[in-house]
Amino acid sequence: PEAITVQELANRMAEKGADLVKALFKMGNPVTVNQTIDQDTAELLVTEFGHNILRVSDSDVEIDTASDVDAPETLQARAPVVTIMGHVDHGKTSLLDALRGTDVVSGESGGITQHIGAYQVKTKGGEIITFLDTPGHEAFSEMRARGANITDIVILVVAADDGLMPQTIEAINHTKAAGVPMIVAINKVDKDSANPQRVRERLLEHEVVVEGMGGDVQDVEVSALKKIGLDDLIEKILLQAELLELTANPDRAAEGTVIEAKLDKGRGPVATVLVGRGTLRVGDTFVVGAESGKVRAMVNDKGQNIKEAGPSSPVEVLGLSGVPGAGDQMSVVENEARAREVAAYRAEQATKKRTTAAPTNFESMFSALS
Ligand code: GDP
Ligand code: MG
Repeated sequence: PEAITVQELANRMAEKGADLVKALFKMGNPVTVNQTIDQDTAELLVTEFGHNILRVSDSDVEIDTASDVDAPETLQARAPVVTIMGHVDHGKTSLLDALRGTDVVSGESGGITQHIGAYQVKTKGGEIITFLDTPGHEAFSEMRARGANITDIVILVVAADDGLMPQTIEAINHTKAAGVPMIVAINKVDKDSANPQRVRERLLEHEVVVEGMGGDVQDVEVSALKKIGLDDLIEKILLQAELLELTANPDRAAEGTVIEAKLDKGRGPVATVLVGRGTLRVGDTFVVGAESGKVRAMVNDKGQNIKEAGPSSPVEVLGLSGVPGAGDQMSVVENEARAREVAAYRAEQATKKRTTAAPTNFESMFSALS
C-alpha cells in the first residue's frame, strides 16, 4: 500500500503517535494520528526519527523464514530433538529423568541441573541428543498447528502392565499427523504383570508395526525405575537420527522456537528457546512473537551461563521486552528498529485477528485447534 496511518507508522517505529503528528506539523503537514500519509512523507518521518527506512508494504515487514533457504554447502550435522509422549503414569517423567542420568557431562561436572523445559544429553559415544520435556498433547498439537514442528523423533512410552490407553492412541495420532518417526519404549518391564508382547500386538491395531512384527518401527523394552534398556533406547534414537540426516546451518543469524516462557521475579521475562538454525549469541538483537529484545544472558540446562548456542540447543534467554507464547518464533535481526518494527506489526496483526475472527461455534473452535 502507498498510504499508512500516522498511528500505524508510529507503532512500527515504536514511537508515540503524538510525536509523529508534531513532527508532521513542523514539516507543514497538519494531520491527526488516524489520517493517512503517503509513502514519501512516511519515509521522511522515519529518517527524521533516526530509524532505518521501513518497508511500508505489510508483506515486507514480516520475516520470511520459509523462503530463506540455506545453501546445501552451509549445512552441518545437528543433534536430534526428541519428545516423549504417552499415557499418564506410564513413566514419561521417570524415563526423561533416567535418560538425563545417562548424561556423561553432568556426571563429570556434578553440575546442578535446571528445569528449562528441555535438556541435552551427551552419550558415551559423544553424540548429543536434545530432549524436550513432555509438552502434553495439546501443547504439541498447538505448536504443530502454528508451524512449529520442532520434534525430530517421538518416543512413545507404553507401560507394559497397562498396555495401550486413550492417551497412547492420541499420541500415536499426533505423531502420525506430524509425520515424525516414532520409537516405542515399552516401559515397566521390571513388573511381574508386564506383558510387552501384548503391547506390540495392540499397536498393530493402530498401524504401528514394530520391527519384531515385520514392520519398521523400532521398539525397546525399558524400565525407567530399574534403569534397564536405556543404552539400547539411546542407540535406537541415534540410529533413527542417522536415517533422518539432520542438518542445519550454524553460521547465520539465529532462528528458534519458544518452548516455554515466563515472567521471572528477579530476571524479568525469560524464554526457553530451541535454536533451529544459526547461532544465538549474547548481544544479538531479536524479535520473538510480538516481543523484541537483545540477548542479555543465556543459561543452559546445566545452569551455566553461555555466550552462544547453536542448532538444536535449548537455552534460556534473558533480555526480552515481554513474555512470548510457546511456539513463537525467534529471529535475530540486524538492528533494534527492525526488531521493533516486526514485533509491532505482529502485535497489530494479533489484535486484528482477535477482533475479527472469533469462532462462531464449537466446530470452528476445534478446527482452529487441530
Ligand atoms: P508420567 O505420568 O508418564 O510422567 O509417569 P511417571 O514418570 O510420573 O511415573 C508414574 C509412576 O510409574 C510413578 O510412580 C513411577 O515411579 C512409576 N514408574 C515409572 N517407570 C517405572 C518402571 O520402569 N517400573 C516401575 N515398576 N514403575 C515405574
Ligand atoms: Mg509426568
